[in-house]
Amino acid sequence: MSLAAAQEALARLVLDVPDFPKPGIVFKDLTPVLADHAAFTAVIDALADVGRDADGNAVVDKVVGMEARGFILAAPVALALGAGFVPVRKPGRLPRRTHQVAYDLEYGSDSLEAHRDAIAPGERVLIIDDVLATGGTAAATVRLIQACGGATHGFGVALELGFLDGRAALGDLAVTSLAIV
Ligand code: AMP
Repeated sequence: MSLAAAQEALARLVLDVPDFPKPGIVFKDLTPVLADHAAFTAVIDALADVGRDADGNAVVDKVVGMEARGFILAAPVALALGAGFVPVRKPGRLPRRTHQVAYDLEYGSDSLEAHRDAIAPGERVLIIDDVLATGGTAAATVRLIQACGGATHGFGVALELGFLDGRAALGDLAVTSLAIV
């Protein structure tokens, strides 16, 4: 039920913004979904289900969100699952010792960081983000979780840009997208 409601909300409310942040990119603007309580609730409920088993029991210890839009979805998913929230951030933003992973962009490279003690060895971790594009961000996040000793349960994402085939960059990671566009 929550999946159908989330899909309806995403289809109705996500806005395509051409040529943002640069020419040729069609930006998926989820802010109208966030601004609508029923839509936001449906999306969070559906993403939280990625961290549950068939009986509806939560099976993850931590939910990781990537800076910055990932935070908006991952934090309420963590609360819904009774799990902790872990921010994965751009370099230099976390104040204590971190693990860092570099990854390639279309032009150049970038890196992401997590606090070394944010995930305890053996903890089960769900990754949540708003949009899956090339998969580079999620792949780097998987490596950060591995560096901490965590076990990645899966990746839940609101929108998947199917034409970019980001899943191919994610190997055998279980990817659940609420909608493929
Ligand atoms: P990627 O690493 O290529 O899978 O890109 C995923 C990250 O970039 C996500 O955190 C998204 O927030 C953001 N992103 C990439 N492409 C788009 C897009 N067309 N619209 C909105 N966000 C995007």
